[in-house]
Amino acid sequence: MIAPAKERIGEIIRRLRKAYPESRTALHFETPLQILVATILAAQCTDEKVNQITPILFKKYPTAEALAQAKQEEIEAIIRPTGFYRNKARAIIAAARKIVSDFDGQVPDNMNDLITLPGVARKTANIVLSSAFRKAEGIAVDTHVRRLAYRLGLSRQKDPNKIEQDLMSIVPKTDWIDFNYMLVDHGRKICQARKPLCLECFLQDLCPSAKEFLRAASLKSRAEARQTSLRPKGSKKTLSQERKKKK
Ligand code: SF4
Repeated sequence: MIAPAKERIGEIIRRLRKAYPESRTALHFETPLQILVATILAAQCTDEKVNQITPILFKKYPTAEALAQAKQEEIEAIIRPTGFYRNKARAIIAAARKIVSDFDGQVPDNMNDLITLPGVARKTANIVLSSAFRKAEGIAVDTHVRRLAYRLGLSRQKDPNKIEQDLMSIVPKTDWIDFNYMLVDHGRKICQARKPLCLECFLQDLCPSAKEFLRAASLKSRAEARQTSLRPKGSKKTLSQERKKKK
């Protein structure tokens, strides 16, 4: 029987910190504006791809003023490889215009103001706050955090804002900044979406999903072994493929 999330979370964080002591965003940036733009571009795109594009974009448009005056087609041409480039270009220009008009050209350093920027919801705002300002006003919930929070039994919610509320109620505030990045690292290395590597996972004894995944993996490998043993000698085809061929 697995203990309630509140009782497991301390040990989960301790082990994550030990495994990923340098956890931080993989996006390259030097200023709050750059991490804001990079995070907008990272939607539905890999961090590696974004990191290839942003040096070109930031060189041509180094300030919020420059981005605010940019032509949409020119931004689109640069960011096209990140996908959804029309929406992203529109959001970047609109956010830059608001930063210039309402915040004196500086990216705001608090949640309430950040989420007034077009294209910026809590996830993006949390990443900007934690990465650029080392401020914890929440926990960024992206696809990895959503998946791992569910598998680890930390939240049964589907809506990112509700997942964030669940996490904020059990994760100590001093761990909010790193919690997203550690779960992202674990989601990429071990608890992958399609095939979680539960046998290798250092959270196995703290995870309510481990048993289920391990049982499914063992059933699958037993079925594969049985099928291999039923194949006629020398044949690489499965028995059902052989039967189909005879018909
Ligand atoms: S035990 Fe499996 S499901 Fe649980 S966190 Fe580890 S890899 Fe993910």
